[in-house]
Amino acid sequence: MKNIILIAAPAAGKGTQAKLIEEKYGLIHISTGDLLRSEVSSNSELGIELDKIMKKGQLVSDEIVEDLLRKKINSSNSNGFVLEGYPRNLNQASRLDVILNEINKKIDYVIYLDVPFEIALKRSSGRLQCKYCGKIYNLNDEKLRPLKNGICNNCGKEIYQRNDDNEESFKIRFNTYLENTKPLIDYYKSKGLLKEVDSSKDCYTVFSSIENIIGK
Ligand code: AMP
Repeated sequence: MKNIILIAAPAAGKGTQAKLIEEKYGLIHISTGDLLRSEVSSNSELGIELDKIMKKGQLVSDEIVEDLLRKKINSSNSNGFVLEGYPRNLNQASRLDVILNEINKKIDYVIYLDVPFEIALKRSSGRLQCKYCGKIYNLNDEKLRPLKNGICNNCGKEIYQRNDDNEESFKIRFNTYLENTKPLIDYYKSKGLLKEVDSSKDCYTVFSSIENIIGK
């Protein structure tokens, strides 16, 4: 049983690596971004409010995200999880310690995917995602292009561009990351949990570095 957290700048490859980890190690993939997007597509009152915040590239309130995360963690009955998009600030990191303590779980590895701004921006501009299964594609990476335009290789459903994957939103998200999320690197380093991976390489090279950490 392994519980893994991925920390990275927006569009650094968290979602892509989380899916590869999920497939290889049978861990459940938990993405707070996906949980929030699913609330948005339900068109609930909450979803409409969330959409406005997310479009602008701002962070949703800690309480709302924690609520969604708790429901997902409690309903997932698996060997372990790969969590991405959470925690995004120090308060969320200490809340996560509380949540995991309550259910007798602990974090095994926090993997920091290091990528420069320019590469993340390029990935963001080419990123597409399946509405149904969440699989991530990238038009700027030949290894991550869909086989058929606009169609998911996995489930044949529509793939779309997120409405926060534009340059303006990306820059806000990147700054939010520097200010709020990057301090988590020292937080997890001091707990002896942090592993660093160069995420500027192609996705399979990055995954191979992750396998070296988790075990082949
Ligand atoms: P992501 O899919 O991780 O890039 O997240 C997309 C957007 O969802 C972010 O820009 C935030 O607006 C929101 N979001 C996702 N996770 C969190 C979180 N842990 N705390 C606050 N907002 C979040």
